[in-house]
Amino acid sequence: MRRAKIVATLGPSSNTVDKIGELIKAGMNVARVNMSHGTHESHAQLIKNIREASKNVSQEVAVLIDLQGPKIRVDKVDKPLELKPGSEWVIGQTKDLEKYPEYKDCFIPTIYDKLVDDCHDGARILFDDGLMTAEAIERDRDVYKIKILVGGKLKSNKGINLPDCDVSAPAFTEKDKEDLLFGLENGADYVALSFVRRREDVEEVKYLLHKLKKNIPIISKIEKPQAIDQLDEIMKVTDVIMVARGDMGVEVGNHLVPSVQKHIIKACNESSIPVITATQMLESMTENPTPTRAEASDVANAIWDGTDAVMLSGESAAGKYPVETITMMSKIIEEAEKDPKERPLLRNMDLSNINSSVMVAASMIAEKVEAKKILSVTESGHSCRKIAHFRPKTEVLGITNKIETVRKLCLYWGVTPYMLFNYNEDDFNFHADVLEKVKQDLKLVNGDKLVITRGDGRFFSRGSSNSVKVEIIKDAPSVPGGQDTLIEASDEKKKILLDTSICASCQNCVAICPHDIWVPNSENHRTTINEKRISECTMDNECIRVCPTGAIEIIPMA
Ligand code: PGA
Ligand code: MN
Repeated sequence: MRRAKIVATLGPSSNTVDKIGELIKAGMNVARVNMSHGTHESHAQLIKNIREASKNVSQEVAVLIDLQGPKIRVDKVDKPLELKPGSEWVIGQTKDLEKYPEYKDCFIPTIYDKLVDDCHDGARILFDDGLMTAEAIERDRDVYKIKILVGGKLKSNKGINLPDCDVSAPAFTEKDKEDLLFGLENGADYVALSFVRRREDVEEVKYLLHKLKKNIPIISKIEKPQAIDQLDEIMKVTDVIMVARGDMGVEVGNHLVPSVQKHIIKACNESSIPVITATQMLESMTENPTPTRAEASDVANAIWDGTDAVMLSGESAAGKYPVETITMMSKIIEEAEKDPKERPLLRNMDLSNINSSVMVAASMIAEKVEAKKILSVTESGHSCRKIAHFRPKTEVLGITNKIETVRKLCLYWGVTPYMLFNYNEDDFNFHADVLEKVKQDLKLVNGDKLVITRGDGRFFSRGSSNSVKVEIIKDAPSVPGGQDTLIEASDEKKKILLDTSICASCQNCVAICPHDIWVPNSENHRTTINEKRISECTMDNECIRVCPTGAIEIIPMA
């Protein structure tokens, strides 16, 4: 089972119900809808398609809407502009092209209305993730003359970065607000804020959500140098962090990206904030069916750095091989996870509060007793997020009765969401029923162990988990005051005891005993002692060793 999650951006290569279904089956956990492209109409259709695809393949994914933020972009151009090194162009708002017909053949239109005001002579202007660079020469009325330093073909909608300028646009734009409201109406599970600079940028959105009485986790994209400096403050008010390496690389220089990535991931791991590593992870797969070695290593290294999730952008949105890219990413992650570089549980161990202590205990117990799963019963997902922080070796099932929580859990490291429908919590046997369902769904066998964490009170209690329990899968749940008994048989050398109230009927003892002392009762599947054979018992205690529940006792007679 893969632990780290995959976020995949959807776009023209991957927006149909069938294609999205294939992506989910290949391993997409979170579908990213990029608000920088498309219309509300197309996004609404895309979200509908995602939900339909989920239903078709019986697997939920989270929908993440990524707000554009004050992203400065090239506007529509009829055909790609050929920017030759050394040539001079002018840049300005699209509407200004009409004002200055003399620049008609060398005009770069932008959607950002303050570019010319924010710019200054000598400032660098970078296009398309820094692939092309220019230098500002001088302002001419409402446009800026620029000289191309590194050339290339500039297409519509490509990004513009101004690393030398103090960009005056607010972090949360009018368009972002409309897009956020759209996302809330259309059932988005996460919202990402672009170009966050300081804590207040996030707080502004939180305040708006509060006013609207809406609750959606906020992802802060760290891509500006100011945000790297303010990381601690931003983390205090953020649910999830994204290492947005695309714009970050352009803004701070690619040479600094690896160390910044490690720094951010470490900080998030220490504070139990999920972190997504994004951009150009398998970039060459946009065109090719296999990645480069460097890209494969990049994905694996992000996993070893401790990232909770990795993200695909153009590879899955507009590439030729979206399904193959997700399959490849999944394979690389699984291999990397076979060789964890350290024990985060021990590094992150936190006993400072009840919830953390319970989760640390659950992680350790599950590992020690070789539990098949940790079942973390959760209402909001909070407990699952906490346990993911300790990176337990054991797979976590996030059990909930809320579809929104199921979707939210899709992003959490090591957590498989598990939806319980139509369960009446007031039923006396609710707990046993849930266990029976999990046993069937996961094809557990008698004797398998589960570690369960939950709050007390009702099953899906609000707040934090405060109990941890080990359950052993048995054929029939033992009923207090029922007919469970102690079976006993003896000869002159020993007394053999079997406590059927805790026997799991796993039949490990039946399998290991060469003398047929243990027999499965064919009527009710409960194991019993074959009294006629007990003189054959050599008292090697092999049955006691393989019994998972401690139900067997062999007492030698003096
Ligand atoms: P973007 O964000 O794709 O929205 O620009 C990610 C990044 O900058 O890395
Ligand atoms: Mn970005």
